[in-house]
Amino acid sequence: MEPVKDQSVGSHLAAAETTTATPAVPAPSPGVQPERRRAPRTWETPPAPVPPPHLDDYQSIVGAADIDELRFLARELKGKTVKMVNSTAVGGGVAEMLNRLVPLMNELEVTTHWDVITGGNDFFEVTKAFHNALHGSDYEPTRHAEEIFLMYNEQNRQRMQFTEDMVVIHDPQPAALIRARQETAARWVWRCHIDLSNPHPEVWGFLRPFIEQYDAAIFSSQSFARQLPIPQYLFYPCIDPLSEKNKELDESFVQKVCEEFGIDRARPIVTQVSRFDRLKDPLGVVQAFKLARRYVDCQLVLAGGGASDDPEGATVLKEVKDAAGDDPDVIILDLPPWCALEINALQRASTLIIQKSIKEGFGLTVTEALWKGKPTIAGAVGGIPNQIIHKLTGMLVHSVEGCAYQIRYLLTHPEFAAQLGRNGREHVKENFLMTTNVRRWLLLLRVLLHIGTA
Ligand code: UDP
Repeated sequence: MEPVKDQSVGSHLAAAETTTATPAVPAPSPGVQPERRRAPRTWETPPAPVPPPHLDDYQSIVGAADIDELRFLARELKGKTVKMVNSTAVGGGVAEMLNRLVPLMNELEVTTHWDVITGGNDFFEVTKAFHNALHGSDYEPTRHAEEIFLMYNEQNRQRMQFTEDMVVIHDPQPAALIRARQETAARWVWRCHIDLSNPHPEVWGFLRPFIEQYDAAIFSSQSFARQLPIPQYLFYPCIDPLSEKNKELDESFVQKVCEEFGIDRARPIVTQVSRFDRLKDPLGVVQAFKLARRYVDCQLVLAGGGASDDPEGATVLKEVKDAAGDDPDVIILDLPPWCALEINALQRASTLIIQKSIKEGFGLTVTEALWKGKPTIAGAVGGIPNQIIHKLTGMLVHSVEGCAYQIRYLLTHPEFAAQLGRNGREHVKENFLMTTNVRRWLLLLRVLLHIGTA
């Protein structure tokens, strides 16, 4: 079979996975001759969403005791109400997480719903600039940025009602909704998903007086937090073990995905799943792979997306292709964003997973890799050290050479690598699954509403 250098489309393969039906594969256009090696088929639109799981569905994964604990913690919260506010209904990890969290809270009879703020392009341009500046990037103040931010927040404040017991505002975009606070009896919480360790002083100086009016702030890592006069809580992000991205798959489906993408499962597979973004260092991964491969046989899979709608992504993708040259063992996959099953299969097919980021938020690809029991090598940045305890749940690296060394070491020490994978999965089970996240919300509700506390 011809090795595949670059698939610039994604495929959605026929339903061969375990628990949920996948959409049917589109029929080939009439008149198209089947090729000897089928080209991956493209889905132009996302598949229909899968209904969210129930609490009991998690029992086989986390055990009955954990589910009983959630029911116990929720008992005295029955009838309490929570509103969550986010800036987007689709796309992004927060919306994905809320789509799973909210039904589980409701199943526990804590009436929870989530709302989305509205705004024009001018608002989202401002909030994007704020977002980047809070992450530590340069900030070019634009005319009226603060007025635009406040105007849209005010419009949303007037449109929304806050009659719940707890209001949770996600991220900076809707942070000024706190101005509605005096009209409500609710406890207000700001859930920050971004790294605030080094914010642009001007933007943080503008935002901070709003944040200080909340009852509490929640951050995703100790290192992301700021000094604030309000209580701060640490909530790790989480993955859903029952999502398309993380659920168990039939081996035959994994095999089929590999065949579609020209990946040889008889040889070691080293994979990085990431947007084609410089901060994910895909070029460094190619270099590390080439160094390691002088000593050990392996293939590199770089699976990513976003290059088609991000000019910078397209440039990075081109650079990666140039760096790969005509090496048949470097397989570059530019996938559309709805290829969760394929990403899942690629992660499961991998011998090692890399996330050689130079800067990172929490790094959910690392969580996903560890959950699949994969020996993982990752840059020691952002939330990654929360997940990878060096030499225990994975390997932390700081350079191309370090990454190459660890690829070589793990491929030649499979028992040690397998132990890392087992430990990594346990670490995720304890700390980074959806059920743990539900427990944290229940505990926070109890603390803020003084339920069951002295
Ligand atoms: N992801 C994806 N397709 C891609 C690249 C990434 O579905 O082509 C997913 C990946 O599996 C993970 C998320 O996008 O769930 C990326 O989250 P992470 O925190 O690792 O990085 P971010 O892209 O948010 O910086």
